[in-house]
Amino acid sequence: MLNQMELHETDGVHYMTFPALDEYPQLLHSFSTRVGGVSEGYYESLNFRNGDAPDNILENYQRICRAVGYEFDGLVASAQDHHTTLRYVTELERGVGITKPRDMDSVDGLYTDVPGITLVTSYADCVPLYFFDPTRNVIALAHAGWRGTVQRIGEKMTETLCRQFGCSSQDIIAAIGPSIGPCCYEVDETVREQVMRLDDIVPEEVLEEQGEGKYLLDLWECNRRILVLAGIPDENISVGEVCTKCHPELFFSHRLLGENRGGMVAMMSLKEAQSLDF
Ligand SMILES: [Zn+2]
Repeated sequence: MLNQMELHETDGVHYMTFPALDEYPQLLHSFSTRVGGVSEGYYESLNFRNGDAPDNILENYQRICRAVGYEFDGLVASAQDHHTTLRYVTELERGVGITKPRDMDSVDGLYTDVPGITLVTSYADCVPLYFFDPTRNVIALAHAGWRGTVQRIGEKMTETLCRQFGCSSQDIIAAIGPSIGPCCYEVDETVREQVMRLDDIVPEEVLEEQGEGKYLLDLWECNRRILVLAGIPDENISVGEVCTKCHPELFFSHRLLGENRGGMVAMMSLKEAQSLDF
C-alpha cells in the first residue's frame, strides 16, 4: 500500500488501484506509473503523453491493457483542456484518441454504461476523479486541475450521471487518484482567490499560507468536499493521498519536470458479461 492505494506489478508494468474499487468484480480501473513501458529519454518509460513516438505510446497502451485486463480495441481517450466538458462514450467512440484522431477539442470528463469501453484520461499532477455506480453499472473519469476543481467538475459529473442514468448520488463510489499533493502544490494569489469563491469550502482547511503571496493548496480535500456536497456519502469516497511530485520514481510531475516529461493515464472499464468470473 502506498497511502490509500495499492501498487501492482504485472510483467514489469507498475500501476495503482483503489482497494475500494477492486472489490467490484464487474469493474477494472487503474492509474499508470512511469514504470514498465518502452519510451525513452524524458518519456522513460511508460509514457502516454503526445510528443513521444506514436508507436511507443501504442505499445505502452498495449502493455497496460495486458497488465490490467482492458481490451485495447475498447479504449477511448479524452482531449483535456481544463474546462468541464463531459462526454458520453459508447461503441461508436472505440479507439478515439488512441488509434483514431480525437474528434472533440475539449473533453475533461468521460462516462459510459457500455461494458468493454475503457475510459482514458491523462495526467501529470492534476487530480483524477473516478466514479462508479454499482446499482446502475455506470462509470466515469474526470480530470480536475485547479481550474476543473474550482469549476466543480466533480459535482458536474455527479449531476450528469444522476440525470442521464437515474443514478442516486448516495450510491456512487468515488475515488481521488494520484496528483500533486498539499505537500507540494504551491499556488499564488490568483488561484487562491478562485478557491475562496467555492461555496461551503473553508479556505483555511484547503489553503496554507506560505508567505510572500504563496499558498499550499489541497486539491484532494477541495475535490472531496465538492463530491460530498454533490451528495456522495463521505464513506463512499477514497482519497489516494499519493503525491506525484513526491514520487519521481513512480510518476511524471509537471511541477517537478516542466515540459520535458511524459504523462500518466487513469483508466476505467466495465467488464463484458462473458469475462465476469462469478
Ligand atoms: Zn508532495
